[in-house]
Amino acid sequence: MAEYLKRGKSAEDVAADDKQTRDIVEGILSDVEARGDAAVRDLSVKFDNYSPERFALSQSEIEAAMSKLTSREIDDIKFAQAQIRNFAEIQRASMTDVEVETMPGVVLGHKNIPVQSAGCYVPGGKFPMIASAHMSVLTAKVAGVPRVVASSPPVNGEPHPAVVTAMHLAGADEIMILGGIQAVAAMAIGTESVKPCDMIVGPGNKFVAEAKRQVFGKVGIDLFAGPTETCVIADDTVDAEIVATDILGQAEHGYNSPAVLITNSRKLAEETLVEIERLLEILPTRDTARVSWEEYGEVILCDSYDEMLKVSEEICSEHIQVMTDRDEWFLENMTSYGALFLGPRTNVANGDKVIGTNHTLPTKKAGRYTGGLWVGKFLKTHSYQRVLTDEAATLVGEYGSRLCMMEGFVGHAEQCNVRVRRYGGVNVPY
Ligand code: NAD
Repeated sequence: MAEYLKRGKSAEDVAADDKQTRDIVEGILSDVEARGDAAVRDLSVKFDNYSPERFALSQSEIEAAMSKLTSREIDDIKFAQAQIRNFAEIQRASMTDVEVETMPGVVLGHKNIPVQSAGCYVPGGKFPMIASAHMSVLTAKVAGVPRVVASSPPVNGEPHPAVVTAMHLAGADEIMILGGIQAVAAMAIGTESVKPCDMIVGPGNKFVAEAKRQVFGKVGIDLFAGPTETCVIADDTVDAEIVATDILGQAEHGYNSPAVLITNSRKLAEETLVEIERLLEILPTRDTARVSWEEYGEVILCDSYDEMLKVSEEICSEHIQVMTDRDEWFLENMTSYGALFLGPRTNVANGDKVIGTNHTLPTKKAGRYTGGLWVGKFLKTHSYQRVLTDEAATLVGEYGSRLCMMEGFVGHAEQCNVRVRRYGGVNVPY
């Protein structure tokens, strides 16, 4: 039976916090719906101490922001974007349209059509998340989305130069400096100055993730991508330094980032607990990482690899780093997670920033029903059909007519039947 050497917050405490977040978001979305730009501006002042004349940056403001970066910084952003673009293009190529004759005279097909506009949220409250610009804006552009709006909060009262640069290089058509719920609201509901988008994507804190959840239906969303979660599955093929580093490397994201170790080695579990304390003394971002670790961190000791798998499936973490002598077995058998990072040479930070996969990933167990953001999320798969021959119209129509009548749909049945009669068949009696 799994033994908890350290436990995180109770499910009841997490649920109470979620309820409070839901209420805050609901109020703010209604305010933006009612008062448009004025509400967005008030909220931007309240939460981000920022009151621009216009939310969107002009071309000269974009150029001014970009001029603040060194050529090294621009090259680094371009390198990351090249990797992400390459993998996104390969994924796009795998999404082929389909057209097939399924029975004589019947042609069925589907087309992958990009959404016509996407609002990409790029987080920036605690850290300017440059990488999120590549992940959403660039991926939307590879998918072929014609209008891509990117929005990120101000950092110290102004646009963050590297975030703006990344958004621009990724191909954003409009760049806004707005954060949090008000940014999601403006892009989803629209205001006097912001034309609404068809879809809102990108990660964010609990307010952003909940705002996206609440606007779903009015617009599409990619997935529920809230505060970062990480999980390390390790045995004694790795040491406590690497495990503790991987745990704190993600716990520093914010005050509510769950980080979990699942292991079958008591020695590794105990040494990791000590190593985390040592690193928390020296990590410059320890103030945040410590809160996350103390409130949400868990160390779970299991009896077997099977139990490690079972526990990780229940936790369904956003990032799962696997460092065992059975990495391939975990890859084969795991079904619920955001993304996997396999082997000691791999790590979440490389994965999230540069290697080429998308870092916008499901949290709060959303990995049970979705993977992360990718080019396919911007594509809508629409079917079409053609009946080419009289024989096919008659054959399908006879079945169709009877099946509609079984449901009591007389009008439907007649749609089939009129064609049966017209194209050479015999009327199907009701
Ligand atoms: P953020 O940009 O998501 O949120 C900042 C905004 O939140 C502010 O601009 C403000 O408008 C709003 N806000 C702050 N306090 C508020 C309050 N009390 N009420 C209403 N609105 C408020 O930046 P962040 O806070 O640094 O969070 C980024 C998050 O994104 C982190 O939690 C990180 O873990 C997460 N993340 C998730 C993924 C993923 O794929 N799941 C990827 C990257 C980052």
